[in-house]
Amino acid sequence: MKLFNKYLGLLRLYLIDLLAGIAISKALSELTIQQYFSKETLHKIQQDKFQRLFNIAKSSTEFYRNTTTYSELPILTKEMVRSNFNNFISNIYNKRLYTKATGGSTGKSLVYYSTAKSRSYLWAGIMLSWMVAGYEKGDKIAILAGSALIDVKSGFKRRVFYKLFNVDTYSAYHLDEQNMRLYIEKLINTKVKIIYGYATVLDRLATFINTKYASSFPDLKGIVSTAEIFTESMRNNIEEAFNVSVFNQYGCNEAGVSAFECEYHKLHLINTRSYFEVDNEGSLISTDLSNEGFIMIKYLTGDQVEMSEEINCICGRHFPIINKVIGRINDMIIDTDQNIIHGSFFHFLFRNDNSIKQFQVQFDQKTINVFLNVDLTIHDKNYYNRYLDEVKRNLKFNHYNLFINSSFLSSNNAKHRHIINTTEPVL
Ligand SMILES: [Zn+2]
Repeated sequence: MKLFNKYLGLLRLYLIDLLAGIAISKALSELTIQQYFSKETLHKIQQDKFQRLFNIAKSSTEFYRNTTTYSELPILTKEMVRSNFNNFISNIYNKRLYTKATGGSTGKSLVYYSTAKSRSYLWAGIMLSWMVAGYEKGDKIAILAGSALIDVKSGFKRRVFYKLFNVDTYSAYHLDEQNMRLYIEKLINTKVKIIYGYATVLDRLATFINTKYASSFPDLKGIVSTAEIFTESMRNNIEEAFNVSVFNQYGCNEAGVSAFECEYHKLHLINTRSYFEVDNEGSLISTDLSNEGFIMIKYLTGDQVEMSEEINCICGRHFPIINKVIGRINDMIIDTDQNIIHGSFFHFLFRNDNSIKQFQVQFDQKTINVFLNVDLTIHDKNYYNRYLDEVKRNLKFNHYNLFINSSFLSSNNAKHRHIINTTEPVL
């Protein structure tokens, strides 16, 4: 039976590859072997891949046409990509380009193109983290997340993709007690083996289980947390609630960054998928080595990390280790009915509208104020009321206001905050 399940799992993966036009199985077997290569071999693979990509960039994109060395290149910001968008497309790449948008914890997301190869490595990297948590091909997975991982209005193809992957998706948007109860029952009844989700969502669900709704999950093998800051207190809370080990996974897809925690809870960065550096301030700057269609070199991820000096992990993997990821916790919005919506709801809402340059949502117990910084040469002010209508459908407040091109509230560290609870002091 176990062998049968294994083959069924493999078959599912091949069907996914066929359907989505990608090669997850190939990328996964490559990474599974590669993770135990020596530091020197990994470094060599990374250098060779970069050189190849750089040559393609110089000969086939407008943006990199006149460059000679990596060091002379400017650090690439989202703004630079937006304003030179077409110049990043390789004119010799003749396969399909997939439109993607960044999640991004600060401000407006970036629309960019990805390739089948890059998407394959993205999924393979995620699956490596599941495997540490106990995943075997074909196992039932639950994904608890928002827009970055689940497309709410997902199309038929994506639904089939998840079906074949044996993935059930749980939305992180409406995380009230009633839904949490339903989620917990479904996780138990469908015999979920691995849960993959946002740290804050897992943490909230865990607190509910630990304080109000004690449950046991006999089929669960492990949990992988992603997309946000993950603290040790969150890990303890989640492990107590679900009675399995929790592993962290971190990624910045447009930059090819993918890191996963090993059995010893060291966060290994897959350095054959990205060419990266960390500057003096700790900013992670990286290049996706598998995106040959839309080439972004030296991309500023917006995340700060601290790399470890440690070279030999007990697990035997030689991918470098990240000590700490310093990013931002995605805030939650609480309405008058005490319903909670995940902040990424707004990223999802605005992500395909290029006229919106930046946004901020401020709320207290009664009022929600949506601030948009927009390019008024594209649409007039009235156009943006549609977003307020969408907010009304999802959140209950006494007052809803829309502000176009008014100034944002800023925090002391000058970093843009997109969700602010104004009943709390701004930090
Ligand atoms: Zn390790």
